[in-house]
Amino acid sequence: MMREDTVFGPIRSRRLGSSLGVNLLPRNGKLCNFDCIYCECGWNKDGLDDRILPDVREVEEALKARLTFCREQGIAIDSVTFSGDGEPTLHPDFAEIIDRTLALRDALCPEARVSVLSNATRIGREDVFRALRKVDNPILKIDAPSDALAARINRPAGTYHVADVVAAMERFEGAFILQTMFLRAPGFDSSSPEVLLPWMEIVRKVHPREVMVYTLDRPAPAEGLEKMTAQEMSVLVEPLVREGFRIQIRG
Ligand code: SF4
Repeated sequence: MMREDTVFGPIRSRRLGSSLGVNLLPRNGKLCNFDCIYCECGWNKDGLDDRILPDVREVEEALKARLTFCREQGIAIDSVTFSGDGEPTLHPDFAEIIDRTLALRDALCPEARVSVLSNATRIGREDVFRALRKVDNPILKIDAPSDALAARINRPAGTYHVADVVAAMERFEGAFILQTMFLRAPGFDSSSPEVLLPWMEIVRKVHPREVMVYTLDRPAPAEGLEKMTAQEMSVLVEPLVREGFRIQIRG
């Protein structure tokens, strides 16, 4: 599913309520440094990628226009959400865009939270880290507890070390939401002890204020993927719930 507009919605999100989306990626393609086997945008190689990113001014104007329209029409917005067709922190002006978004939110829709869905590959960069610390909901992904398992499910481009991401997450001091996809795939099973137990250790270490566990929802590019039921996922994360972690499950 591709979103062609830079600002789209609001759409109804089970996690975030009425969500106004911001897509910082090319209008005609996906741009991500992961190529997850479950990505609803398809494979990187199949994207009609024009590689043209919206600039800061375009994003600001589109967002301002949409927030003003919603305000005039009485359309509620619970979250301004950076998601879109790829990884938003890849935008070279991500930090500047976040600053302008927060200013627009304060002026036009102060009740909305600002949320960023990120694969967390760039949170070790100081500008990205600082920008994510400013937003209300930094939602950061770890699906696999080791580099070898991440290679199967997330298929990162370039170097990716789970240990580096974990270290960078610790700098958030718990002020973020961890997002993890649970699924079964050839060579990867979120419910197996080799995936589940070290993942739980990571959760304990980075201690997010909330964990969002979800499973397949839309058609995926890879074959042989199997979703999990909400009940199954609830049982799997029970030890963490007993330890006091707040876990939201989306089946
Ligand atoms: S990180 Fe998100 S956008 Fe990137 S490939 Fe994975 S699911 Fe798709």
